[in-house]
Amino acid sequence: MSILLTLAIFSGCSTDSADAGAGESQFPRQFIGQDGTYGLFANSTPVVGAPRLLVFIIDFPDCADDESWNNMNPDPFIYSADDIERHFFSLDRINESAALYARPPGDYTVAHYSLRDFFYRSSYGQLDVTGEVVTVTMRNCASEYYCWDPIIHEVLEVAEAESALDWTAFDTTGTGYMDGVFFALRGFHPNAWGNLAFLNQHKDGTVIDGEVTGGALTLGEMAIGVYSTVQRVGYESNVNVLIHETVHLMGLLDFDIHAGPPLNPHGPGATTVMNGWATIGDLPGIMKYAFGWIDPIHIYGVGETQVTLRSLSDYPQFAVIHPHGDLDNPNWFIVEYLTSTNNNFGLDETSNIHYLGYLYPVLRPGGGLRIWRVSMNPLFFTADFGLSRWGDYVQPYVFIEAIHHHSVWDDPEIFFPDHFFYPGDSLTPYTEPSSNYARSFSISDDGSLKFIETLSCSGIYLENIQIKDDTAQFTVTIREND
Ligand SMILES: [Zn+2]
Repeated sequence: MSILLTLAIFSGCSTDSADAGAGESQFPRQFIGQDGTYGLFANSTPVVGAPRLLVFIIDFPDCADDESWNNMNPDPFIYSADDIERHFFSLDRINESAALYARPPGDYTVAHYSLRDFFYRSSYGQLDVTGEVVTVTMRNCASEYYCWDPIIHEVLEVAEAESALDWTAFDTTGTGYMDGVFFALRGFHPNAWGNLAFLNQHKDGTVIDGEVTGGALTLGEMAIGVYSTVQRVGYESNVNVLIHETVHLMGLLDFDIHAGPPLNPHGPGATTVMNGWATIGDLPGIMKYAFGWIDPIHIYGVGETQVTLRSLSDYPQFAVIHPHGDLDNPNWFIVEYLTSTNNNFGLDETSNIHYLGYLYPVLRPGGGLRIWRVSMNPLFFTADFGLSRWGDYVQPYVFIEAIHHHSVWDDPEIFFPDHFFYPGDSLTPYTEPSSNYARSFSISDDGSLKFIETLSCSGIYLENIQIKDDTAQFTVTIREND
C-alpha cells in the first residue's frame, strides 16, 4: 500500500502554508444512505445524518416480588422505561447549557442530558441519533439465569413475534445491517460477575460483533452487525456509558488512560469520553475528524505561521501540524483549543467530579490547548478503509498520545494528568512526551508506515500562546528535516 496522504488531502491545494479546508470530505466515504446518513463501515452505526437505534429494555417477571432479587438489589428502580427512553433520545434540553446538568448528591459521574443531545452537540449538528425503545419482559429467562446469550435470543424471538415495527427502517444506510442495537437490563445481578463465560464482565456496557458471537443475529431480513449490552439502566442514568458504547458501535475503540489496547498500551495521557473510566468530556478532535465532523486547519509550511483557533468545544475546528512540513509523514501533531463548554463542561473546576479524591483534569477559565501526537492509518485515506468491517478493528489512526508541557508522570500524586498548555507554555521538539510508555514504536510489516519513532525531532515549535477574544492564538514554526 502506498502512502497517498498528500493526494488524498491536498489535491489541488495552493502554496498556502495554512489550509482552512473547503468543507469537502477529506477521505473517500462508503455507505452513504438516505439524507446523507453515513457510516465508517457497512455494519457499524452511522456517524453522520439521522441513524435509528433500536433499544430493548429487558425486564424479568420475577424481579419485583422475588425476595432474593430484592436482597441483591435493595434499591427500587429510579428510572422507568420512559426515563430510559429520554436518556437515549430526548432533545428537549438542547438549548440549555450542559453545565446546568444537575447530578444527585454523591453522584460524581459527568453525564449529559441524553445520548442524542451529546452527539448533536459533539457533531455540531451533523449527527442526530434517533430510534425506538421497546420493552420486553422475559418469559423463559429468569433473572437468576442472567446471562446474555439466551436473553438476547429470547428478546429477538419475542420482538419478531410481537412487534409491528418495520426492521428495515433501522437500516438508514441501506447496507442490510441494523444501524445499532442496545440490549439494556434495568437491573443488575451480582452473580453475573462470576459467570464471565456467558455474561460480559464489563459492569455497565460492552459492544459485541453480532456476526461473531453466537452466529449472525437477525431481526426479520436485517442483520445485526454489532450490538451493545448495558446494565443498571434502571438505577443509573449511565448516559456517558451509553455514549461511550455508541462510539464503539460507530467503529472506534477505546483509548483508555491507564490500559487501552490496542492503540496505546499505557493510555493516551488525557481523559475523554472514550476512556474506559473517567469518561469525562467530549470526543477528542481526531475522532470528530474520523467521523467527518471537522475539516481541520493544516499547517505544513516551513517557517513561521500565526494560528488562531476557536474552541473545539463549540466550533468544528482544530489544527494539524505536519512534521517538517512533510505531508507524507502520517505522524500528526493535533492542536485543540478547549473550553469547559458544551460537552466539555465537566472540565470546569466547579464540576462535581472534582470533589472526588482523584485529581481530574481541570481547564482554567478561558480554556487552554491540548496537543496530541497521532499516527494516522494511511488506509483511512483510501476507499479500502470503508470496505473493512466492524470486527476487523481497523482504525483511522494507529497511535495516539497527548503531550504535556511538563513531565506529569513524575508526580506520584497525579492520578489523571493535566494535559493543557496555557500562555507561557511552549512545545518544542524536545518537550517531554506526556505519558509513561516505551519510546520504541513499531514499523508496519511492509515497512511503508513510519510511526512515532521518526519523531525524535519533529522540527515543530509551538510558542507565544495567547488566549483572547474567545480564541487561542499561537505561533507555529516548522523546521525542515536536517
Ligand atoms: Zn469502551
